[in-house]
Amino acid sequence: MNDASMLKNALPGVLSLEPYTPGMPIEELQRRLGVKDAIKLASNENPLGMSPKAMAAVQAAIRGDLARYPDGGGFRLKKKLSELHGVAPECITLGNGSNDILEFVARVFLGPGRKAMFSRHAFAVYPIATQAQNAEAVVVPALPPDAAMAYGHDLAGFERRLADDIAVIFIANPNNPTGTWLEPRAIEAFLAKVPRQTVVVLDEAYWHYQDPATRPDSRAWLDRFPNLVVARTFSKAYGLAGLRVGYGLSQPQIADLLNRVRQPFNNNSLALLAAEVALDDEEFMRRSVALNREQKDRLVRELRAMGVNVLPSQGNFLAVDFARDAKPIHQGLLERGVIVRPMASYEMPTFLRVSIGTEAENTKFANALKDVLKA
Ligand SMILES: *Cc1c(COP(=O)(O)O)cnc(C)c1O
Repeated sequence: MNDASMLKNALPGVLSLEPYTPGMPIEELQRRLGVKDAIKLASNENPLGMSPKAMAAVQAAIRGDLARYPDGGGFRLKKKLSELHGVAPECITLGNGSNDILEFVARVFLGPGRKAMFSRHAFAVYPIATQAQNAEAVVVPALPPDAAMAYGHDLAGFERRLADDIAVIFIANPNNPTGTWLEPRAIEAFLAKVPRQTVVVLDEAYWHYQDPATRPDSRAWLDRFPNLVVARTFSKAYGLAGLRVGYGLSQPQIADLLNRVRQPFNNNSLALLAAEVALDDEEFMRRSVALNREQKDRLVRELRAMGVNVLPSQGNFLAVDFARDAKPIHQGLLERGVIVRPMASYEMPTFLRVSIGTEAENTKFANALKDVLKA
């Protein structure tokens, strides 16, 4: 089959796109290497699973009427979110994961001749969404490896590249895969310098895991900066990655446009319900955040004791630098039943990203890594 004519009209941005590489599912490792009892610390999921209250609600709802379409307007979830954030429901856009929100912004504001700006080593979906729209990426070099916030976003560098033809700026705070973060004052000062026709997406997927002292009250910026879109997700601390729910907060005029490109039933009924109930389970959120804090500190100590460098992180994961090609280490961990995430596609080939697991999972990872490093 050599005739590729049927691809002739595919958009150039799509033809040259490198697909997103997700963390390997446990099943795949078992299939490929025959490893039993594997653990996955590769996708920044909540190791405690989901809120037991949300689980009970979903289980009961399965016996309900799934033959009906979901509420395409997400009325109840939006009502809860609007109370939580003190914004009108018209300010909220619901997404099939916050990935959807990033794509809606790209679809509404990006296209040929438009530019999107983001940091090097930032979340992989920004370049993908940009390129799929045949827009141009302005990649801002990250802070250098010897900076206090090594590999983090360089807002001064962003500022130097501000221009009227930049339609969208993506900022991940904290950033995945580096774990780096920005001071709220620095973000605020930057927002004040961005031209009003440039939409800024502040991607706060890891907000709950942040130190309360350094996490922004981004909601308060929505009134001052009408070009701001805050993206949040239920995939990380809320533990609903498999159900796919995220949302955007913005001025109603932006939300209205985002909602026009949203497919009408992008959130399924179970996902809407789970998210709604998860918002009320403060106890589960507290446990999740506390476990992450305690286990992250512990892993940082153990990794440093093994002589490897760990970037400071405010997420539920660590970027670990082995100062040499990390591929064999990744492979060694796979053979020992531990799935972590390579960072070569983020142009950080000496790093691996490790999600913080339960105490037992982290012990298994630490032991496997010690074993690999001495082999
Ligand atoms: C995980 C993640 C997301 C969103 O994931 P969804 O599951 O689509 O909500 C968004 N941004 C960053 C930086 C992430 O790490």
